[in-house]
Amino acid sequence: MTNSARATGARIDISHLTKTYGSQRAVDDVSVSVEPGEFMTLLGPSGSGKTTTLNLIAGFSTPDEGSIHVNGRDVGHLPPHKRNLGVVFQNYALFPHLSVSDNVAFPLKQRRVSSSERKKQVAQALETVHLHGMADRRPSQLSGGQQQRVALARSIVFKPSVLLMDEPLGALDRKLRDSMQLEVRRIHREVGSTVVFVTHDQEEALALSDRIAVFRDGRIEQIGTGRELYESPASIFIATFLGESTLISGKVRSDGRGSFVEGAAKVRVNGSLPDGSAGVVMVRPERLRLEAAGAVSATADQNAVEVTVLNEMYLGSSRRLGVRLPDGTTGLVREPASTASAVRAGDRAVLRWPVNDGVLLVADPAAEAVSASPAF
Ligand code: ADP
Ligand code: MG
Repeated sequence: MTNSARATGARIDISHLTKTYGSQRAVDDVSVSVEPGEFMTLLGPSGSGKTTTLNLIAGFSTPDEGSIHVNGRDVGHLPPHKRNLGVVFQNYALFPHLSVSDNVAFPLKQRRVSSSERKKQVAQALETVHLHGMADRRPSQLSGGQQQRVALARSIVFKPSVLLMDEPLGALDRKLRDSMQLEVRRIHREVGSTVVFVTHDQEEALALSDRIAVFRDGRIEQIGTGRELYESPASIFIATFLGESTLISGKVRSDGRGSFVEGAAKVRVNGSLPDGSAGVVMVRPERLRLEAAGAVSATADQNAVEVTVLNEMYLGSSRRLGVRLPDGTTGLVREPASTASAVRAGDRAVLRWPVNDGVLLVADPAAEAVSASPAF
């Protein structure tokens, strides 16, 4: 696609958005800004308010409170078709009786674009989604992935400044989904629209996004790049929703050398919380090391905890081990195959990690209960 065919991505400012159904706050005081051309993903469990937020941006429903500005302009009073948004949903609802090109031309017809201009833009959109040879087919003559590409072409054909996508790949099987994720990324780069993308799949969010807003119970719990959310989660909910982790709880204390959490083991960590409060040290599986049992000697910058190895799983490029800490906490270790330890299931061992690799979080019984499922 040439540069002249690119959309100009708009800036979106969402401020204190609230939407209530009966007594339930489906969206509860949500504020977020999306930069021009940015790929922003709304990630969260089912029922956390992602679709409701997207529908409010699209204008399919009206907020109880709060505002939505696109490029500084309040769009709250505009009907959906006046917001210059492309929309793709999981059930992409193509018109079965229309050809691929007529499906894609539909939004242009609605906008009263001339027939010759329509032809040009449809050809361009089909080229972008790599379906140029299929213009005359009916949707029923296409695979699921191809149909989803038609839906994508239809959403980008009028070069929207904003593209809203709600679980657009959710209905596809795993393999097709992976290849469509690459397509969505490429199309985003080529088209230049600002994208707000909804998914409940953390891997999909990590693969696609510039930034991710994680939803919980109608609120945004944290916004950041995938790396920020993985390495510096703000809460146990974020830590367990994105990736795997070991959570070691205890009372937060400090001495001359800094903070530690005291439970069955004494675990040093950077950061601080009020003395005596309930804290959790979170460590990612690839940051942990296992050593054959010996003298457990922690140092100022290395934690060491005695564990029992519960199970091990060979995964080709890595090995995954479940361990049990003295207080019954289960942990998860991932060793690259190239540096795998000699430790085996059933062994007693020492779990080590650099103090800097732990993240100190406030205890959250609700989030910990969800993450307490067995290591594997
Ligand atoms: P998500 O897309 O994150 O799965 P939704 O935004 O669809 O979540 O829903 C958020 C909450 O609002 C859910 O509890 C859902 O049941 C409720 N909800 C959504 N739409 C409606 C509606 N039209 N009427 C009543 N409740 C709704
Ligand atoms: Mg939804």
